[in-house]
Amino acid sequence: MAAPRIIRIAILPFGMVNCHLIIGDGGCVLVDAGLPGSEGKVARALKRHGLTFADIRLIVITHAHVDHAGGAARLRQLTGAPVLAHCGDLAYYRQLMPMTFCSTGWFGRLFLKTGLIRQPYVPFTPDILMDDGQVVQLSQYGVEGVARHTPGHTAGSVSIELAGGEVLVGDLIASGILLGGLVRTGHAIRPPFEDDPQATAAALQQLVDAGMQTFYLGHGGPLPAAEVRAHAGRLRRLGCRHPDDSCVK
Ligand SMILES: [Zn+2]
Ligand SMILES: [Zn+2]
Repeated sequence: MAAPRIIRIAILPFGMVNCHLIIGDGGCVLVDAGLPGSEGKVARALKRHGLTFADIRLIVITHAHVDHAGGAARLRQLTGAPVLAHCGDLAYYRQLMPMTFCSTGWFGRLFLKTGLIRQPYVPFTPDILMDDGQVVQLSQYGVEGVARHTPGHTAGSVSIELAGGEVLVGDLIASGILLGGLVRTGHAIRPPFEDDPQATAAALQQLVDAGMQTFYLGHGGPLPAAEVRAHAGRLRRLGCRHPDDSCVK
């Protein structure tokens, strides 16, 4: 199999919100579905590469925040592809209970007040539900790589590791300013919300130790392994909970 290609799909401009298309030898995997109504952006990205919805063989949702899962139900309908996600976020995919948001600073708290992050989306039940610590091979969907449970940003966060040393980590880490993206995109930051900084640090360190070289992000990015390693160290030094962190339902 040839190394898969990663295409960034801009859900918002300047890298503020990304989803990604992985083009493999035997098909495509869509990583994250963007905000509700993002299907036109996904369709245009596919078309630019001579592809259609029918080429998507799997949709991986990295976690249940609306900017990643909001378009999943519609994109499943349009592509006919199964949705893979982790059971830790299942209640939120099914919109059975409100998510908890642990702000990592002033921007998170302000962003929470806007209500944008809490906007509802069409509920769905993932077709393939990962358990704790489970790894799913993606070769059966045409891409040489694996989906791995990497909790921390949320309990059910998932990352996709590719054979070439690229990894798509959703919101385990962000880069840039504010939400992420815009400027300073080579500089790692915490995303506006983070459930468990220590679990996040452990997940990022594990990916670096496994030899991952380039980290593709939901907000900003990509980041080299050295920057991710330094960020994991900063998270560890925060202790269990940063004094600025505040969690609300
Ligand atoms: Zn998130
Ligand atoms: Zn996000």
